[in-house]
Amino acid sequence: MHIHSFIVDEARPKLLTIEFNSRFQIPSFQILGLPAPEIQEARERIMAAFQSSGFEFPKKKIIVNLSPSSFRKWGTGHDLSIAMKILSESLDWKSLGRVLAWGELGLGGSIRSVGQVAHLLELLLVEQKNHPKPLTLVLGNNDFIHFENLRNWRVRQGMEVPTLNRTLCATELKQIPELLNSSIDHSNHSSEIHLPSAPLNPHLLPVTSFQERIITISSIGKHHTLVLGPKGVGKSESLNWFRALVSRSTPTQMWERVLYQESRGERPDFSPPLRQVHSQVKPAHLLGSFTSKGFRAGELSLAHGGILFADEFVEWPRDSKECLREPLQNRKLQITRVNGSLEVQCDLQLIATGNLCPCGGFPTLFRVYGYSSQVRCRCRENEIDQYLKKLSGPILDRIDLVAIFTEQSSRAIPERASFKLIQEKVERAQSFTLERFSGVTSRLSPDFLEASLPKSKSMEALLKDITSLRSRHKTLRIAHSIQALENSSELKEEHVFEAKTYRFMDQLISQA
Ligand SMILES: [Zn+2]
Repeated sequence: MHIHSFIVDEARPKLLTIEFNSRFQIPSFQILGLPAPEIQEARERIMAAFQSSGFEFPKKKIIVNLSPSSFRKWGTGHDLSIAMKILSESLDWKSLGRVLAWGELGLGGSIRSVGQVAHLLELLLVEQKNHPKPLTLVLGNNDFIHFENLRNWRVRQGMEVPTLNRTLCATELKQIPELLNSSIDHSNHSSEIHLPSAPLNPHLLPVTSFQERIITISSIGKHHTLVLGPKGVGKSESLNWFRALVSRSTPTQMWERVLYQESRGERPDFSPPLRQVHSQVKPAHLLGSFTSKGFRAGELSLAHGGILFADEFVEWPRDSKECLREPLQNRKLQITRVNGSLEVQCDLQLIATGNLCPCGGFPTLFRVYGYSSQVRCRCRENEIDQYLKKLSGPILDRIDLVAIFTEQSSRAIPERASFKLIQEKVERAQSFTLERFSGVTSRLSPDFLEASLPKSKSMEALLKDITSLRSRHKTLRIAHSIQALENSSELKEEHVFEAKTYRFMDQLISQA
């Protein structure tokens, strides 16, 4: 009989084998295989749990090895597998085959849940390819419920699930021998998922028709969007609209996100994510970091398949803004480590907001947009210039759409019906883009964009003043979202013209 545990090392789950050796020498108990202090403490927990459960602890020199020994082990989830390995030496479990046990022991012999079950499921999927003989899984109560929920969720999504010999759920160590010797299988293929999820009906504040247009176009194409404007015009409030309109992630994205959530000790949440990041955020917080307990996902991966909301974006530390360049472009992150590199997914839509001057009241430059504000700005022109220069060219290049919100809506609180109408518009346009461009407009390839551009002198004249190729393609991607919104069979000049107005920062920055 082989007893296994597992560990998440460098974000990858790895199978551990519990090796055992005993000699008739002065009784002692040693754990090898680079164990962290909490695994050393397992000796005391296991000996106390044996006593409380009525099992006799062998009066020998005992050596347990967590194999392979080459990397550091951490966590308290190995208690159960070590205890079962010691028990198996005195009880006759030879015919049981391979068992993976996962749980922490209490001094009274209880089995506590330790989490990481999504990673455990990942491991079992890999493991069944290497070993045709299925494992028996033994888990604590809560871990068992989460495991079954995740497994059944995957079944409903049409995703692969591991084949197991049996799945057993135990609350106390003393139940283990009887459970293993019986033919009981606790796995419940019909269990209903009851994982917590965020409310999906946010409170929606009214928006102006211009704001509504920006939100609609941006949501259709999942364009990275920067909303600028003075304080009090509903920039942050518009976020609830984006949240309400965000489309569902794919099952793969949801699963990847569950793994990232788990790396931070968060419960699985399958609702479309919206991660809100404050203005003093550090790059490690965004990208993720390595701790003594392995990879801890950052905000970018937690927003995978959803929205990252960057409030006060202009005031973000420069290095935090700069570190977004690659992930926004490639929709994934490459984190380099001593032992290799780790690829982390972060296919998200960035919604950023910011003021136009240090005091947040700046209206004057944009009088042309019909601005009227209660906040009086006392900032000097050079202060405003310096402030806007915080948005570096390279970062603006990664943002698709920039809009200035200048007034608060005087409309009444939106009724459910009017929101439903906007939602239908977005959904219709999204199926239009899926049918016509077989994808999301913000991801259309440069080749496709150039090929689908109507060849006319006036269209070329319209695009002539866009000097950067990246900016030209971003303009065309927004234009395709507008085309989808208008349900137009071809890309028209008016679509490109409107798209260009959302790229006005290109000119402001190049003039600065
Ligand atoms: Zn000001």
